Amino acid sequence: MERTPVAEDRLVEPAIKGEESALEHALRPNNLSEFIGQHRVRAQIDVLLTAARHRKTPADHILLSGPPGLGKTTLALILASEMSAPIRITSGPAITHAGDLAAILSSLVEGEILFLDEIHRLPRPAEELLYLAMEDFRVDVIVGKGPGATAIPLQLPHFTLVGATTRSGLLTSPLRDRFGFTAHLDFYSDEELEQVISRSAALLKISISPDAISEISRRSRGTPRIANRLLRRVRDYGQVQGASQIDLSGARTALEIYEVDEMGLDRLDRGVLTALVERFNGGPVGLSTLAIAVGEEIETVESVAEPFLVRNGFMARTPRGRVATALGYSHIGRTPPAQIASLFDTPAIDA
Ligand code: ADP
Repeated sequence: MERTPVAEDRLVEPAIKGEESALEHALRPNNLSEFIGQHRVRAQIDVLLTAARHRKTPADHILLSGPPGLGKTTLALILASEMSAPIRITSGPAITHAGDLAAILSSLVEGEILFLDEIHRLPRPAEELLYLAMEDFRVDVIVGKGPGATAIPLQLPHFTLVGATTRSGLLTSPLRDRFGFTAHLDFYSDEELEQVISRSAALLKISISPDAISEISRRSRGTPRIANRLLRRVRDYGQVQGASQIDLSGARTALEIYEVDEMGLDRLDRGVLTALVERFNGGPVGLSTLAIAVGEEIETVESVAEPFLVRNGFMARTPRGRVATALGYSHIGRTPPAQIASLFDTPAIDA
């Protein structure tokens, strides 16, 4: 998915934005014990790493799946540090030819971790090359062209592939089957996000009250990346105000200025809900009509606003179009109509 200009501007955008990676780097937990939440995944990875260390072999290939901003890259870096192994980072879209991947694979050292972000976007010929590399630690280098081409097998060092994907459903089964372990990351609870924010505030030397921390966590859409970003914006506001500590009212005012409301909706989300309720009587309405009503690209509404609104029950997808739920109505200060339940009689299309 190409990132749209709207997504670049949004404070609640879950994907990483332009110059954010250096800022994020400073806030990344360095080992498994510092990694907050995701208890099941953490416990599973702990067993996997301990066993690999015992055997003195590289860990099995690992697939990390889940929405952006939940800690997939962070976990890959932690795996490397826990295994005292070097790590090479690349992504599906960065590999345009199978040859690019062959070059990376053949330059790995024994035990190295290869982190392949957005693995679902790997071109098919590169993916096919990966099958053999994952299974037999081998690539066949094709020399020459046409009928005279020959495949020369090249042995690779034992490495661990850590694949990350936001769309595990798009992964082919031959690729998925070659991972020894798949971890699915879930959205974080408010309490876990409070821990993320407290930790980041301490690292950034920001003095902030516990109720301001909970306020930020509630508006962070279950996503550590957004929590850290909102914390930085609230800190800016505190600095401009000359406050020695950020308190609840400071945090609320700052987030109001940035138009992130008390449930984490921003201007685009509220615009979509308002159009749905006020211009289309709560729906059902087609996505393209809705997008025109808010003056946005269909793609933006579909990939940026809709997933959050549907997941959190503000809006639903039905075979006849998008409909506002009772929560959607009340969130924008409107009373839901009595017949709203009948809109859901038809089964919703899977998001
Ligand atoms: P993804 O690769 O899934 O998009 P990242 O690993 O880049 O997400 O995480 C985004 C940011 O969120 C990182 O800078 C990191 O500081 C923070 N973060 C993510 N998960 C956690 C966690 N479990 N504990 C603390 N911070 C986290």
